[in-house]
Amino acid sequence: MALVNIKWKGKNYCEHHFKIYFIGQIRKLIDRYGVNGRIAVAVSGGKDSAAMLEALTKLKGLELDPFHLNLGIEGYSEMLESVSRDLTRTLDLPLEVINLRKEYGRGIPELIERERGTPCSICGTVKRYLMNRYAYESSADYLATGHNLSDMVTFAFNNLINVQLEFLRGIKPILPADPELKMVSKFRPLYFLRDQETELYATINNIPYLRYRCPFSASAPTLGLKDLVANLEDYHPRALLNLVKSFSRIGDDIKTGNGKIGRCKQCGFATSTTYCRFCRLMK
Ligand code: SF4
Ligand code: ZN
Repeated sequence: MALVNIKWKGKNYCEHHFKIYFIGQIRKLIDRYGVNGRIAVAVSGGKDSAAMLEALTKLKGLELDPFHLNLGIEGYSEMLESVSRDLTRTLDLPLEVINLRKEYGRGIPELIERERGTPCSICGTVKRYLMNRYAYESSADYLATGHNLSDMVTFAFNNLINVQLEFLRGIKPILPADPELKMVSKFRPLYFLRDQETELYATINNIPYLRYRCPFSASAPTLGLKDLVANLEDYHPRALLNLVKSFSRIGDDIKTGNGKIGRCKQCGFATSTTYCRFCRLMK
């Protein structure tokens, strides 16, 4: 019985064949880029990273090292940590937890109170920094994150709207490592899968994830854009795939960046300023 229509393929899939399709989209990337070795997998407790981790366990030859960032958002971070623990317990994997408040003295709410910038921009800086740092310090070959195709198109539109063309260079399924700058290769296993597909995969496999939204999400600049992106394939079945292809090509042609990247004087991780934004936030 048909469960879902995959517009870009023009096909209906039953539950069994949808699961094969979903894993196949991840395997395609792993084969194309020769991904192997140790993968630090960022597990947030949301549907995307939960579906990603479960799907990666179905693929052979990968050494998975799941970890979770507890950002100290009262009433929300506890639930995310708890569901992440449920997930890894179900998959029989260990889970490393980094607790922002315990390890650095401040959670996201305290940082938002003190600092200028939107909650999500501060939180984004903290997450990117801690994810890369964990992957680097645990000697991982890759840092896997749950960004999917819908996220990538949303991210690109948001950057176009804000004339931040240099960020289009990041629209890739894999970004290379830079050992000099302590940057681990980034890997996005869900790069070819849409929001609705990861949600369906998580639901039919009974994968534990949290369905509530972050209390700060109302201020996320991309909230409305996500709805727009979700409908683009009604207009053209290959719209999302073709858009990331186009954005990625534009990104390849953009040479100028945000200035020279060096190493933070305090922590030694990559930054374009003397001290990285994470160290400045935590000062
Ligand atoms: Fe952080 Fe914003 Fe996501 Fe909340 S919605 S977890 S503040 S990035
Ligand atoms: Zn630093």
